[in-house]
Amino acid sequence: MVIVMQRGASILETKEVLRQLAGLGLEARVVDFPDGPNIVVPGVGATTAYKCLEELPGVKEVRLVSSSFKLSSREFKEQNSVVSLSPQVEVGGSEIALIAGPCAVESEEQIVATAKAVAAAGATALRGGAFKPRTSVYSFQGLGEEGIRLLRIAREESGLPIVTEFLDCESLELFGDDVDVIQIGARSMQNFPLLRAAGESGKPVLLKRAMMATAEELLQSAEYILAAGNPRVILCERGIRSFEPSTRNCLDLNTVAVLKEKSHLPVIVDPSHGTGVARYVAPLSKAAIACGADGLLVEVHVDPQAALSDAAQTINPAQFQNLVEELMPVAQAVGRQISASESSRVASPAQFSGLRGSVRFFFPG
Ligand code: PEP
Ligand code: MN
Repeated sequence: MVIVMQRGASILETKEVLRQLAGLGLEARVVDFPDGPNIVVPGVGATTAYKCLEELPGVKEVRLVSSSFKLSSREFKEQNSVVSLSPQVEVGGSEIALIAGPCAVESEEQIVATAKAVAAAGATALRGGAFKPRTSVYSFQGLGEEGIRLLRIAREESGLPIVTEFLDCESLELFGDDVDVIQIGARSMQNFPLLRAAGESGKPVLLKRAMMATAEELLQSAEYILAAGNPRVILCERGIRSFEPSTRNCLDLNTVAVLKEKSHLPVIVDPSHGTGVARYVAPLSKAAIACGADGLLVEVHVDPQAALSDAAQTINPAQFQNLVEELMPVAQAVGRQISASESSRVASPAQFSGLRGSVRFFFPG
């Protein structure tokens, strides 16, 4: 059960609800959202026995939530949540979010050229890893702090909000404010201190599903962020382990439908890690939008063959541009849009006049 307090509810009113709950033998936890406090009562599922609490002063409504996750559930909030990444960019509304960029930030030239190219092609945000989770300790680990600095330059040059992964609480604390969206990667989905820190940051959080986690476990991880008072969570399906060796992972589009049913949070899909194969990125992207995803996270590099990580699954800007064009009728068929106009997506449109043609020429097919 979740007791939603009115926006202006006083501390005394909240305390009185807690006192009444304690009298009923119920333990509760107060979560302050920007639009008011919520009192989460974990042990109580969908029973109408407590509906009478709605009569207490300051209480807006009592939501009966049967699932193990509460604030992220559709039982708590019926309408879809929309998470804004910048004044121009939202995820979860009618516009499809296209978050594109390299697996890792490698140099100023690479990240700025990629950022400008994906912005010209229709991206709504730039991705790029500075702190990379690599299976082998001998693989490129990312540029770290320098990568964050370069991402900020790329944001300035392209007008796109920047999305980057944090692997630990220390770097999140140091650099979280420098970026627009905090990515929690598949390998960190159950790093609970990191989830709490992302919650406390108040920033939009892109939470990726671990390769062996259920949809319910993903939502329980999202709940850590929401329970820290941060409702700005975007879920991401990125493929799960399977027996099939043709692809790196098995992109589980079932989960998009499951998550959209069980949760109000936006859901995006990563067809790059989901397939591990550049030529499968386009068909799976179309399938993802067709089945209700709110956006995509796509690896794009100005020179995919030279990428220092995930080269095999990375597409080039021209391929990304084709993909965006092919996605438009798919989005339209399911009542969504992909904005053709760069000025509606980027922060400083004047910077881009005349760029589109040169980008197309520079990165052919
Ligand atoms: C990534 O997006 O760069 C990444 C490392 O993905 P995942 O955490 O899904 O493996
Ligand atoms: Mn990658």
